[in-house]
Amino acid sequence: MSSVAVRFAPSPTGRLHVGNVRPALLNWLFARRHRGTFLLRLDDTDVERSSEDFARGIEENLCWLGLTWDRFARQSERMDRYAEAFRRLRADERLYPCYETDAELAAKRRAQRSRGRPPIYDRAALKLSEAERASFEGEGRQPYWRFRLDAGDVAWDDAIRGPQHFEGGNLSDPVLFRADGRPTYTLASVVDDVDLAITHVIRGEDHVANTAVQIQIAMALGAERPITYAHHPLLIDAGGEALSKRLGSLSLATLREQGIEPMAIASLLARIGTADPLVARADMADLVAGFDLARVGRAPVRFDRHELEQVNARVLAELPFARVAERLRSQGIAGSEEFWNAVRANLATLSDAKAWWDVVSGDIAPVAEDPGFAAAATMLLPPEPWNDATWSTWTKAVSAATGAKGKALFRPLRLALTGLDHGPEMRALLPLIGRARTAARLAGKTAR
Ligand code: GLU
Repeated sequence: MSSVAVRFAPSPTGRLHVGNVRPALLNWLFARRHRGTFLLRLDDTDVERSSEDFARGIEENLCWLGLTWDRFARQSERMDRYAEAFRRLRADERLYPCYETDAELAAKRRAQRSRGRPPIYDRAALKLSEAERASFEGEGRQPYWRFRLDAGDVAWDDAIRGPQHFEGGNLSDPVLFRADGRPTYTLASVVDDVDLAITHVIRGEDHVANTAVQIQIAMALGAERPITYAHHPLLIDAGGEALSKRLGSLSLATLREQGIEPMAIASLLARIGTADPLVARADMADLVAGFDLARVGRAPVRFDRHELEQVNARVLAELPFARVAERLRSQGIAGSEEFWNAVRANLATLSDAKAWWDVVSGDIAPVAEDPGFAAAATMLLPPEPWNDATWSTWTKAVSAATGAKGKALFRPLRLALTGLDHGPEMRALLPLIGRARTAARLAGKTAR
């Protein structure tokens, strides 16, 4: 094991979709690439919005994608650690009590904006006298707690964005503890990252400003090792809009129902927005081998549903029989490895295999356009056993007897045998269809 330790830290307040699962994948690939550890941390301090249902859903989705974790933590079980941080920051005078209501804060921000100033918290609470505080508390107001930021420059070398600078004085002092004593994500996340020895925080660029604040909090808590931060761009749709409006249809649960393979999602998300071409891999190990965080770009990442469907078809074509046998059986497909290998390159989703299963073993509507040609072809059917050379032997004989060549030879035979003018190679299908069914279909019968 190397010293690399990363985490995926979802709040169980909703479902995973292609956008918010991307950091899970990037962290997981990074951990595996560097033989480090991957922690799943549930950020469930927001008790009103968090639910066990969402937590279970997230865990199930991650397992389905193959993103298993080496360590697990949930913030609701670490409250004593946050209480300790409270005592330390309080003793060091980095926390101060505040009493403004949301409405009062909103009014301040409006006033600042109308004067053309940035809406930064004015630290009015820092200037309250003992008596003023006592008077607020006398009114029944419980304080919540802000962290006093240092005015200096906060800088880090982002592993994706390059050098970043923030002026502490341009940021609002963040609230770290609510009036009921519970910590906010901003604090809990730092305590956990330090306690659990996280080495790299890889997350969306919506957290860049949080990072400036969290670096100061980590220092105030006496963190010894610096954390490397990497902020990846967020996904946008094909038209350049934020993806958020259509996320329901892009939830992992929905994509799974629609027959999208987990490896299609992983393959696409591992490569979009990187300097490398798209791939369709059947194995995570291949994605790990090709993963390099330095190849993740800074530009917004376009997510294209059509691209996901294309990758899905390519992943199906790569999947070995052993990986799908169980799922084929559950669709009533008793097909063997030969069947799967014959059809897998012709599927948009796995459920399309059923139609080809009917072609080789069930009822179809054969299309016999020229009964004379079909009769001649039937006469020339070789005896069984058949193999993947039979198609060639047979069609050569049919060509010699009828003079038909190319499309005029192959198309009517394909139509008669499969009912369709396109599909898997006939060389592979013919032995699976077998002689009796072939003869019946050439005679125009819907035969089993
Ligand atoms: N719970 C936070 C979120 O879901 C985690 C952000 C982070 O990675 O620190 O946005």
